Amino acid sequence: MKVYLDYAATTPVDDRVFEAMRPYYTDVFGNANSVHSYGQEAAAAVDNARRTIAECINAKRTEIYFTSGGTEADNWAIKGMAVRYKAVTGRNHIITSAIEHPAIIESVKYMSKHGFDVTFLPVDEGGIVRPEVLEKAITDKTVLVSVMAANNEIGTIQPIKELAKIAHAHGAFFHTDAVQAMSSMKMDVRDLDVDLMSFSAHKFYGPKGIGVLFVKSGVKPDKFMIGGHQERTMRGGTTNVPAVVGMAEALRLTVKEMDENNATIKAARDHFLDRIRKEIPNIRINGSLDSRVPGNANVTFEYIEGESLLLSLDLAGIACSSGSACSSGSLEPSHVLMAIGVPVEISHGSIRFSFGKHTTLADVDYVVDELKKAVERLRKMSPLTR
Ligand code: PLP
Repeated sequence: MKVYLDYAATTPVDDRVFEAMRPYYTDVFGNANSVHSYGQEAAAAVDNARRTIAECINAKRTEIYFTSGGTEADNWAIKGMAVRYKAVTGRNHIITSAIEHPAIIESVKYMSKHGFDVTFLPVDEGGIVRPEVLEKAITDKTVLVSVMAANNEIGTIQPIKELAKIAHAHGAFFHTDAVQAMSSMKMDVRDLDVDLMSFSAHKFYGPKGIGVLFVKSGVKPDKFMIGGHQERTMRGGTTNVPAVVGMAEALRLTVKEMDENNATIKAARDHFLDRIRKEIPNIRINGSLDSRVPGNANVTFEYIEGESLLLSLDLAGIACSSGSACSSGSLEPSHVLMAIGVPVEISHGSIRFSFGKHTTLADVDYVVDELKKAVERLRKMSPLTR
């Protein structure tokens, strides 16, 4: 049996999405910037996709900028806003949280080498950024606040609306990395009142290598990719038409089927948590369970190395992840688990199980049965249990 429980790392492309993309690889292959009919047909598809995506997040068509994914959108939001608005306003302080994805953390660290002060907001033990913490950290030098909508390791949902309100009250812009949020949360940019928002298609059953930076009208980050006239000259590079079409279809389906999928996913996740709580001793569930995306369970198994457990599960056909996919293979403890106070010595025994729309209760039962066996065997071998 094979069970995939790593939907937070990536998702399979939905068949309907794949079918929507197919013609744009073969028949309608024109460059969307060409004036002839091949190009115009491709351009029309890109235009439709932009409209669909805008509608899904309650944005205007002209506020959607296609990028190569979440990492690029995050880099653009941080670097583009910092550079541009330091020049305009003289502000040189960026605030983010301690639990961001490396695409944000590394981008703000990069800016700190280029004349910016950076504050990493701590989170509470549930993994939530408290608005009063931002209120204390923000100054009249703050140009940008960037806090993720949902965390990739522990799935905690942040109070974006309140945080954006505080940023605006102090004359700062607000960006959110919504890469992990889009598959299960309705992200209405007007209601949340964010200035910028990043997301990536491969987390919601769309293709890899395509994403969006939403930029509110009137907000003007520096250009990111300099080149051709694509994306209203803000992001040059030949448009990846099939991917754009696929992302739009994936997002349309995600929003349409969200409630139903969330219910299935939550039932699978909760069944998993119920069973492991009852059947596996000495475990710890990391992060708030109240404010959390339905598909995430992050569990620390005491006295065990997460990597060994991951390999045992892999041998049983089960795919999950230790920490974020990007930091798998690194021996550093997860910065997210450190931020919520998981002791270093047990943090290495932490595994992220992420559930998706194809996960069944039978899958969960198989995983828990295998997990129990693997945990028992590894604990017997562990010097920590003696
Ligand atoms: N931000 C978050 C919260 C993520 O989880 C990820 C991917 O894991 C990214 C950004 C990067 O997105 P992409 O893989 O599209 O570059």
